[in-house]
Amino acid sequence: MYDCIIIGAGMSGLAAGIRLAHFGKKVVILERHAIPGGLNSHYSKDGRRFDVGLHAMTNFVPRGTKGAPLSKLLRQLRIDHNELDLVEQGFSSIDFPGRKIRWTNGMGMMVDEVAREFPTQVDGFRRLVAHVQGYEDTALDAPYLSSREVVAGFISDPTLIDMIFCPVMYYGSAVEDDMDFSQFCIMFKAVFSEGFCRPQIGVRHLLRLLQHRVKEAGAEVKMRTGVKRILLKDGVATGVELDNGEVLEGKAVLSSAGVVETSMLLGETPKQRPGMLSFVETLLVLDTMPKDLGIDETISFYCRSERFNYRRPAGRTVDPSSGVICIPNNFQFRDKPLAEGIIRFTCLADYEAWSILNKPEYAQAKKDFIRAQMETTGLASKLDGHIVYEDAFSPLTVKKFTSHVNGAIYGSPDKIKDGRTTAPNVFLCGTDQGFLGIIGALLSGISMSNFHLMK
Ligand SMILES: Cc1cc2nc3c(=O)[nH]c(=O)nc-3n(C[C@H](O)[C@H](O)[C@H](O)COP(=O)(O)OP(=O)(O)OC[C@H]3O[C@@H](n4cnc5c(N)ncnc54)[C@H](O)[C@@H]3O)c2cc1C
Repeated sequence: MYDCIIIGAGMSGLAAGIRLAHFGKKVVILERHAIPGGLNSHYSKDGRRFDVGLHAMTNFVPRGTKGAPLSKLLRQLRIDHNELDLVEQGFSSIDFPGRKIRWTNGMGMMVDEVAREFPTQVDGFRRLVAHVQGYEDTALDAPYLSSREVVAGFISDPTLIDMIFCPVMYYGSAVEDDMDFSQFCIMFKAVFSEGFCRPQIGVRHLLRLLQHRVKEAGAEVKMRTGVKRILLKDGVATGVELDNGEVLEGKAVLSSAGVVETSMLLGETPKQRPGMLSFVETLLVLDTMPKDLGIDETISFYCRSERFNYRRPAGRTVDPSSGVICIPNNFQFRDKPLAEGIIRFTCLADYEAWSILNKPEYAQAKKDFIRAQMETTGLASKLDGHIVYEDAFSPLTVKKFTSHVNGAIYGSPDKIKDGRTTAPNVFLCGTDQGFLGIIGALLSGISMSNFHLMK
């Protein structure tokens, strides 16, 4: 009999497993796939190794910074900052028609850039930054507050508002067009005030570190082990039934599968809405370094239409009018630079539009969106003739590797901040508990373990 059965070996499930095992709990982590990390993982194809998912880790702070999310989670997982082997971004940008704002980690450059592009707005922007810094954004019982309404109280220029929302939404909103202000504050600090970094060799380094800690702490991990349903007796969970029919008994279940998906595992009709926002992603390998082609940003959040639309492109496979371009080579590597030039594009996509395609149509749709992304961003003329390898994934890939309904990248728009479900001993962690991104998911696994399962 396990003290806790954890569903999913993504970031949140691994963090929860480490935390609970450190406190002497008998824990098993069950993962349907062969590799941990959900879609924030890695793969090998045609002799090359790629990260999938990781553009950047948010929330960078230097070693020894007190009270920051990264420092807190490392302390709780007993990982030294140096072990992550982090390198910071060079600079990133928000690139809209006729307007560009650049930033490095920390707010200094960002404030200067807002002052340069929007001189009449910079005082309001400064006040917004102060408001975000002082806002209590981790309260588990805070009601929904519209970020668009709050931000409009500080800034009146609609383009600047869209420019601020673009990175914050792409890196952490499960809601179309607007987001909860607590989530906005968490992401604003994660992306702008603290900023971007990555382990030098990529996400596989972080995953290896977490797997190592899981093993050291004594938690069990069963890969290729899907959970078919959560078993209940008088409304209380007694364990899980696996895809192969085997039963494991447990005193509690912690699920990172998502709120809608966990409801289904409990045999219920979900009350929460399934997520609708999904992404396509392209990975291009170049015969040269991006800097040699004049591409200097680490990450660029672009919009080519007049207004920024963060919504499902209903009926269309992809909306290339806005998106994220990540250039991993442009992190400030110390001693392990990437061997080849790489560019990744991410855009909003509609799961349904992809799900009705047959095999040849699917392959063609991938080719089409790679071209559309290169042309819409204006990078086609720089990249043509330099691409030696390309790969892409669709919302169907997201669904396959996360089990999220609709391939919803950030899960349901209805977050359950206290992690409770209808069963008193089944809890949620990860994306649908409401802490998004790699750092958010790790913190979620830790905090839900601390909150519900340490007794
Ligand atoms: C394409 C993509 C790019 C991203 N890029 C970044 C980035 O650059 N930076 C960043 O900070 N964040 C990024 N994110 C977000 C970040 O990866 C996620 O927020 C975070 O990793 C979520 O972790 P999780 O543990 O909540 O869920 P997941 O990673 O989804 O893990 C859930 C795990 O549970 C398993 N599972 C589900 N159901 C079952 C079941 N019934 N039985 C057994 N196992 C099950 C799944 O297979 C999966 O491994 C990206 C996400 C995606 C999808």
